[in-house]
This record gives sequence, C-alpha cells and structure tokens, in this order.
Amino acid sequence: ETYAVWFRSDFRLDDQVALYHAIETVKRNDARWFAFFHLDPRFTKEIDLHHDYFFQTLNDFRKLCKDHGVHLHLVYGELKEALNRITKRVSSLEAVFFNRDDAGENSVRDQEAIDFFHKKEIETYAYEDAHLHGPHEVTKQDGDYYKVFTPYHKAWSKEEKPRSYQVDTKTLADYQAELKPLHEKGETFFEEDVLSRCKGDWQAIGREAALDRLETFVDERLNYYKNERDIPLKAATSRLSPYLKTGVLSPREVYHHAAARREEAGAGAETYLSELAWRDFYYMIHAHHPDSKNKELTEKYTALSWGEDEECFQLWSGGMTGFPIVDAGMRQLNRIGWMHNRLRMITASFLTKDYLLDWRLGERYFQKKLIDYDASSNIGGWQWAASVGTDAVPYFRVFNPTTQGKRFDTDGDFIRKYVQELENVPKKFIHEPWKMPEDVQKEAGCLIGKDYPEPSVDHSVQRKKAIEMFKGEG
Ligand code: FAD
Repeated sequence: ETYAVWFRSDFRLDDQVALYHAIETVKRNDARWFAFFHLDPRFTKEIDLHHDYFFQTLNDFRKLCKDHGVHLHLVYGELKEALNRITKRVSSLEAVFFNRDDAGENSVRDQEAIDFFHKKEIETYAYEDAHLHGPHEVTKQDGDYYKVFTPYHKAWSKEEKPRSYQVDTKTLADYQAELKPLHEKGETFFEEDVLSRCKGDWQAIGREAALDRLETFVDERLNYYKNERDIPLKAATSRLSPYLKTGVLSPREVYHHAAARREEAGAGAETYLSELAWRDFYYMIHAHHPDSKNKELTEKYTALSWGEDEECFQLWSGGMTGFPIVDAGMRQLNRIGWMHNRLRMITASFLTKDYLLDWRLGERYFQKKLIDYDASSNIGGWQWAASVGTDAVPYFRVFNPTTQGKRFDTDGDFIRKYVQELENVPKKFIHEPWKMPEDVQKEAGCLIGKDYPEPSVDHSVQRKKAIEMFKGEG
C-alpha cells in the first residue's frame, strides 16, 4: 500500500496536520508514502514578487525535505493531467492526504481533485491546518455564521485552540516509497532560470528564519505590539504573514508562542492574538462568499460606478500620486513585496476614495506583489477599505492621507526611506511637500512638479465625490 501527501501551501515538516495523519496511518499499516507538489502552469508563466517568493520558499522546503531523506516530487501540468501522471505511475496508491482550502478558487481545485481520486477508488483525507478555526467551527447559537468581527472574536476567543501535531520527522525517510521522480519537467523546474529571474528583496526565507523571527518578536516586541503596531517605521509587527501564507509556520505555533507570554505581555499579547482571529474571520467570510473576489459583500453596493482610469492606476501603483505616505507605502510594496498594515489601509483607501477606482483593481495588484498574498485576507481588507464588505467601515469614513501621514509617520522618516526624492525635505513639509517655498525646494534638492509630483487630486474634493457616489447608490 502507498499513501501520498500532497503539499500545497504548508511547507513544513513539524506540526503539519495532513503529514501527521498520513505518517501515523503509514506506520500503523506498515505501508509506504511519498510527498508531491503540483506545479500549475497558471502560476509559473508570469512570475512577479508573490510567486517568486512562493517558489523560493518551495525550493527551500525541498532542501529541508532532502535533509530529512525525503524527496518532494514536483509534478507539472494542468491539475488533472498532473494527477493522472501520479496515479498512472503509482498503481498501489491507496489514499491522498492534504490540508484543505475551503475558500475561493482553491476550494474548487480541492473538489476537482477529490472527485478525480474517488473515481479511481483512491481515498482522500483533507484537514484544517492553515487556520486555528475553520469556517464552520465558530458559529452563532443558531448555527449561522458571524458577519461582524467583534462578536465573532468574542466567540472565537472562548474556543479551545488546537494543540500542535508532533510529526515523527525522524522516521519519514524509513517509510518512504522507492519511486523514480514522477515527472522530469517538474523535477527540472528550478534548474531552469525561474529563480534567477527573481526580483524580490525579502531576504529571510525558510523555516529557520521564520522560527527566529517568531522567537524574536515574541521575546522582544510583543509587549509593545499594541502601542507601536501602527507605526510603519518601527517595524513593530511580527512580519510573520509570509510564513503563515506559505505554511512555513503553522498558526498553532504562532498562537501558542504568543499566548504563552500572555501574562507578561498583557494587552500586547491580546491584541496580537486578535489579529490571528481576523485571519480566521476573513477565511470564514470568503468560504461563505466564494464570489467575493469579484462581488461586493454588501448587496446594495454591487452597482457602484467605480472608475477604471488607467493613468490614475499607474500613478497609484508606481507610488507617484504626490501624497508622500501613499507613495511610500506603494514603493515599499513594489520593493519588498510586503506592506505595513497601516499603509495597506491608507493606500487602499486612496485608490478607492480619492481616485474612485474599482477596489478590484487594487486587490489584483496586491495579489501580484504581496509575498503574503492571501485571497481571503486581501479581499477582506480591500472590501473593508472600500466600505463594501460585511464588516464594513461606514462609507463616509475616508482616510485623509496627509493627516494619516502626520499621525503615523510624524517625523517622516519612513517616507524618506522609500521616497528618496524627499530625503532632504524638512519635517515641516514632509507630508505636504507642495507647500514648500521655492528656496526650500531648492535646498532640499526636490523641485515639486519635477523631482516629485504635485498632488494629483484635491483630497477634500475627492472625498465629497466618494461620499456622493455611495449616497447615490445606497
Ligand atoms: P501582525 O500585525 O504581526 O499580525 C499577525 C498576523 O495576523 C499576520 O501575520 C496575519 O496573518 C494576521 N493579520 C493581521 N492583520 C490582519 C488582518 N487585518 N486581516 C487578516 N489577517 C491579519 N494579510 C495577509 O496575510 N495577506 C494579504 O493578502 C493581506 N491583504 C491585505 C489588504 C488590505 C487592503 C489590508 C488593509 C490588509 C491586508 N492584510 C493581508 C492584513 C494585514 O495587513 C497583514 O496581515 C499584516 O500587515 C501582515 O503583517 P504582520 O505579519 O507583521 O502582521
């Protein structure tokens, strides 16, 4: 008998639910197992920061597997073609173990795969691994799902959290099936120039870096998390999102590490744990609204007349709007594939409420760039910022980019780090460089309209337009 573990976005050997169950079954039945990853051509054609980081992580995980004597087979091709290749080659395949994804496109893929295997009389076992609570676990008394975060969070906090799964990693190799590589094209994928095309500037990849960051964050920064998390310059957040996205860390590891410091870290720990609840919340909402990538969750806002102006979109995505904090955020994204949460809120608000552009354009741009891209959290974040989600901010709450900048980057040093043209602009003008007198511009080496753009819109005018748009449809 042979069993397979299908890795997806869960690149670790410790505390991996599907792997844990597979190995326990293999040992019980004195069977054999193998590990595989499906390389979908849809994701390998145009590699931007998001997939670059993902593939680098996958490549690193293959090395980790190798260190444990495990070969992670890479199978390239359309889903059915790839699965067919596997079942043809492994005639004794009894069952496939994997960690499920219940939201959006991936849930469709899961179902297709399950149907495929069942037709061939191969069992499938799917587990909740990537979240602390799956989409059907935290419900209201009547069994309905929560649409608003606060009561969800209250209920979520009362639920016991899953413990870590101790995978017996020392015996993984002993039970491995002897198989030649399943697919030549898959095996050589990383030998082609894929990784050398990488543009990403995010250094820390892999399990060791992730564990190190988790420890450092919990030991040194958790106490200050509540007070400093909104200040981009401080790097006071955990920056664990890329590891949670690729599954290099499990949410159980992150939760229990932080929860163990509850007493010392007090409000810092509580606030941090509630962020993990947001992650589960958006996953649940997405699972209940599989079409939310394209459709507003608030029914009455599905017909809003968002713009699609290409020129404005280019200014926004290139960090050339003329509003320093917005531009700094977008340039951080373009440079390292990650953006501070406060800046995600500011830049998303700017695209939708200042440029009045369709939130879907922004959601897709973030998808291309974010190394922590997570469909559920990204859609949730964008619908929240555009005031069209379930748990929406009221539409009349529009972020003022200048005020936000002054509040969260008071001295302007974060701006100076990412918008180099503004490097020598004095604090007095850093959030409103267009107000610099000519002599100050000259002294700072930054001529407005030449070295750095004039503000591309009048915020107070655009704010009114946004509110009118909502009023008209609401
Ligand atoms: P921390 O502050 O250290 O938080 C810890 C963890 O909690 C994060 O790693 C993340 O997994 C989770 N988390 C924190 N805030 C949120 C939130 N608002 N929603 C869901 N989970 C949260 N997060 C993503 O992981 N992927 C995305 O694609 C994504 N897109 C977003 C788009 C917009 C417009 C907005 C406003 C937010 C988005 N977020 C997304 C949420 C949040 O910005 C990031 O999770 C956070 O910035 C990651 O940095 P961190 O690990 O330092 O977070």
